[in-house]
Amino acid sequence: MTMKVSDVLAFDCGPVTWRVSCSDIMLKEKISSDPDAPAQGLVVAGLTDCIGGHVVINPEQSEDHMRATLWHEAWHAAYDAIGGLRLGSEPTEDEVILQLSSTLLDTLRRNGPFTAALLSGSTALAYIKEQGQDNDLPEHHGQSGAQEQIARNRRGTRRAKNRLE
Ligand SMILES: [Zn+2]
Repeated sequence: MTMKVSDVLAFDCGPVTWRVSCSDIMLKEKISSDPDAPAQGLVVAGLTDCIGGHVVINPEQSEDHMRATLWHEAWHAAYDAIGGLRLGSEPTEDEVILQLSSTLLDTLRRNGPFTAALLSGSTALAYIKEQGQDNDLPEHHGQSGAQEQIARNRRGTRRAKNRLE
C-alpha cells in the first residue's frame, strides 16, 4: 500500500505529538487568525503552529510537493523541539546541525506512517521492503522498537549461553 501525506494524521517530534492536516480551509484560517503572519495574502505550501502542535499542509499540490512540505514542516517542529532560542542569535553551523540532526533522525525512526509517506515511491523504500523479506522485522508488532530490541538482545544472550552449556 502506498502511504500518502494525507494519510499521516500525526507524528511525534521531541516531547510533542504534532497533528497533521491537509486542508486548504485550515491553512487559510490559521493565516487569517494571525494578522502579523508574514504569509498574509500569499499562497502557502504549509505551516507549523508551534502553539497548537499542528502541521497544516496545502492539499492543492502534487504528492511530491506535499512530501517536501511535510519534511519542511518537520524541521520547524524539530526546531521547536530543540527550543530554537537555545541556539542563540548567531549559532554556528555545527550547533544547528548537531541539535537538528539527532532530533530529525529520532523523528524518522519513531514514526512509521510519517516516514513511509516521506519515502513513498523511492528507491530507498523499495530497498527496505526487499530487506524486510529477510525476516529482519520485529516479531512482536505490539511492542515498541525499544522493547523489541531488548527482547531480541535477551534472546541472543540466551542463545549464547545455550551454546556455552
Ligand atoms: Zn518554513
